Amino acid sequence: MTFKQLGLAEPILKALEEEGYENPTPIQEQSIPILLKGKDLLGVAQTGTGKTAAFGIPILHHLYHSNKDQKGKRKIRALIVTPTRELAIQIDESLKNYGRHTGLRTTVIYGGVKQTKQVARLKQGVDILVATPGRLLDLESQGVLTFRDLNFVVLDEADQMLDMGFIHDIKKIIAKLPPKRQSLFFSATMPKTIVELSKKILGEFEQVSIKPQQATAEKVEQGIYFVSKGNKVHLLRELIKERPGESILVFSRTKHGANKIVKKLAQADIKAAAIHGNKSQPQREAALGGFKEGNIQVLIATDIAARGIDVDDLALVINYDLPNVAETYVHRIGRTGRAKASGIALSFCNNEERAYLKDIEKLIQQKVPVMPPHPEVEEEAYDPVAAKKKPQQRGRGGGGRKPQGKSQKKRSDNNRRR
Ligand code: AMP
Repeated sequence: MTFKQLGLAEPILKALEEEGYENPTPIQEQSIPILLKGKDLLGVAQTGTGKTAAFGIPILHHLYHSNKDQKGKRKIRALIVTPTRELAIQIDESLKNYGRHTGLRTTVIYGGVKQTKQVARLKQGVDILVATPGRLLDLESQGVLTFRDLNFVVLDEADQMLDMGFIHDIKKIIAKLPPKRQSLFFSATMPKTIVELSKKILGEFEQVSIKPQQATAEKVEQGIYFVSKGNKVHLLRELIKERPGESILVFSRTKHGANKIVKKLAQADIKAAAIHGNKSQPQREAALGGFKEGNIQVLIATDIAARGIDVDDLALVINYDLPNVAETYVHRIGRTGRAKASGIALSFCNNEERAYLKDIEKLIQQKVPVMPPHPEVEEEAYDPVAAKKKPQQRGRGGGGRKPQGKSQKKRSDNNRRR
């Protein structure tokens, strides 16, 4: 299947060619025909699958074709609501790229910054608006923008919106939408509350599901290090030192943890920055910008902050902590091995995190290969027999590093036990 076969407008095909997109990703192949027919869509998919183009391209196609009927100042005809500033900026950039030859105008609004510039851009007239919920409602209530002319509405990352407490904002937005519209609803997971919310926005819809295990298993090489809590920083430093000049994204479960890692890496002369909810918008942008440009080698992110990070050539993701929600693991490793590249995701697992690993493996329906102990990190081998006798000493028993052959055997024992 090619983009041309999907019957897209020439200016869009041209932009996709310039982007280097040769073929549609599975979600694009499945969603674009549904959306071109004008149907509502429920997409079960995460970022990293090519989701933005899957909804963005049909919207651009429709708007481009109806552009000639437009008179006077541009009206907001498409709205994309997404939970974080980072994601909003990312989607805006992507739509500007895909739509660069269409003459359509896209802009983005989000909270945490002054509204003046955003208002000025809206006043010039835009066709497509990307927004986070709070700022959107705020500017709507001030009369700076209206939902009246919307033909297309996308609710993106719905599960994350709920996690972040946007449910009331989302309901308010839905209540204000014009009845005649095409609606798209995307969520990586589908708990009951999300299904209920989707019913509020969608009319008759078709569903497309891209399973997380497909997205991860196919693209990302994974590995797990069994490492004690105290040795994690040491192991991280070694893995970074082995990859001079490579951009590495590290996940930390907590904001405080992220700051601590930055400090520890600085002591080893490794340039790192943290990105999380306690950082101001300029701080986040500086960290992300520095990372994208290669001035900061390592970015330490918490889960919420990381969803919008889309960096080309991100070869390695490290899970410094294993997430306690298995789906988060899939989101995290989706930061590498994006649609056009394959990547590596390495995870650190201490004794307390073994239960999390079990959940993750159940979700992705595969065992994460166990990495041999790092030669520079003195870690005692996991001994399942000793662990059975003294569960409190898991991972600490045994007698130092084992010769390669033996530790290989231990690893397969490990795998069987988990
Ligand atoms: P998304 O899931 O929308 O965040 O997209 C993930 C990444 O895949 C982005 O870096 C896109 O530029 C890239 N991408 C999306 N669609 C394609 C495609 N058909 N071919 C190659 N890369 C793509």
